[in-house]
Amino acid sequence: MFTSLLSQSLLPAVVSPVGASWIDTLVALAYIVAAILFIRALAGLSKHETAQKGNNAGIFGMGIALVATITLALTSEPERGVLVTALLIAVAMIIGAMIGIWKARNVEMTGMPELIALLHSFVGLAAVLVGFNSYLAPDAEAIALGGFHLGEVYLGIFIGAVTLTGSIVAYLKLSAKIKGAPLMLPGRNWLNLAALVVTLVLMVIFIKEGGVTPLNTTLLIIMTVIALAFGVHLVAAIGGGDMPVVVSMLNSYSGWAAAAAGFMLNNDLLIITGALVGSSGAYLSYIMSKAMNRSFISVILGGFGSDGAVTAGDEEQGTHQEIQAAEVAQLLKDAKRVMITPGYGMAVAQAQYPVADLTRRLRDAGVDVEFGIHPVAGRLPGHMNVLLAEAKVPYDIVKELDEVNDDFENVDVVLVIGANDTVNPAAEQPGSPIAGMPVLKVWNASDVIVFKRSMATGYAGVQNPLFFKENTKMLFGDAKASVDNILAAL
Ligand code: NDP
Repeated sequence: MFTSLLSQSLLPAVVSPVGASWIDTLVALAYIVAAILFIRALAGLSKHETAQKGNNAGIFGMGIALVATITLALTSEPERGVLVTALLIAVAMIIGAMIGIWKARNVEMTGMPELIALLHSFVGLAAVLVGFNSYLAPDAEAIALGGFHLGEVYLGIFIGAVTLTGSIVAYLKLSAKIKGAPLMLPGRNWLNLAALVVTLVLMVIFIKEGGVTPLNTTLLIIMTVIALAFGVHLVAAIGGGDMPVVVSMLNSYSGWAAAAAGFMLNNDLLIITGALVGSSGAYLSYIMSKAMNRSFISVILGGFGSDGAVTAGDEEQGTHQEIQAAEVAQLLKDAKRVMITPGYGMAVAQAQYPVADLTRRLRDAGVDVEFGIHPVAGRLPGHMNVLLAEAKVPYDIVKELDEVNDDFENVDVVLVIGANDTVNPAAEQPGSPIAGMPVLKVWNASDVIVFKRSMATGYAGVQNPLFFKENTKMLFGDAKASVDNILAAL
């Protein structure tokens, strides 16, 4: 996409009269094939079993799209010459690929959400740059479109700027570089509303004025500053356990930003791809809001409607009991039914492999073992499912929250491995930052073993009353080491 944006923004869509027709037709065909492959990729990614195939379809589609776009760029600028154009594209691609490969090799699975947030910010930045480029140096087609083109430039820059700063704040929050607690400015909902109204009024003046004029340039700059601040405020106001919805919402915004860039560059594939990302991201945000019992509108408007009166506390609420690995092994030997509820700590410890071993050992010994997965366990949607699939845990014993939540009464031992917010009964108390969020009711089981290193809180910063319940025992230490110790004791 970067190459596409770069090549197309560098080059006006003037095609040499000679090769124009057949190259254009081939590129259009390639774009259709790529678009179909992208749709297949999305469909494939919706199920564990077909995810790999879906991913391959996406990679193949992107390969076709790149070749087609580069071909178009090479044949579109007779004045500059093919060699100079090829050199510009090659330099951009080599630098981008080097950074991409280095990052992909170094990123930890737990660092993926931050990386994704950062990548979203690049899409936002690209849309802003393409927008300004398209405003200052419109091609013949854009000039012919008049007010419509100005409208798409204005909206493209607005969506891009909101995505840019919103994603940077999400990156800072997810990587714990700034506090995760929501920023509650007085009258914040009115501030958001005012920003939107001013943006709309400026848009009307911008389109009426028409063309590249000092007034329009000033208006565009003012709107960009408002949009950048709006993006910061929108995400800064969201805290606690609501960040997952924001991550997928920014994914959606980045899609719309790309689609807007597609309109400005007159690139059909970019419009289609952007719309696919935008709409699937919006739908994912909707599903996640529903799964977490949050109002979708409230989350996308930066917490609109909540009074901000949350009470977060990390003080301990009683005494906890400790347990050793050998005692847990004994409990597991005696159990008929075991449920494992993993969370972010399992990812940090990379404990999924010994957890998979433990599962195999227990099942071989006739114990019924299942996994209960919370929709926002970990730090990105589907985080736990990916880890467990990586460790070859069979899909059919990996259950969703709804499938297991009423069944904990019948479970002998629950192993809470590095999970905290997702098993926190404080969600049932009004006023808690995670109030209303469904949680795994692990406390209904006969015995609950919590694997963690300390009494520290989870992502939302709320202390967990589960740790102080009579049937809960704390197994302190790194989750991988603890599971290894249990395996040794078995
Ligand atoms: P939490 O972040 O609530 O808790 C993780 C726990 O793991 C911590 O209490 C920590 O305790 C423990 N831990 C960390 N490292 C280790 C280790 N090496 N060994 C053992 N334990 C460890 O995790 P959950 O998965 O329960 O909840 C996810 C949270 O993240 C929710 O609030 C969710 O909203 C949020 N979130 C989710 C996203 C998503 O898309 N899924 C995206 C962004 C945020 P200690 O330090 O004491 O070891």
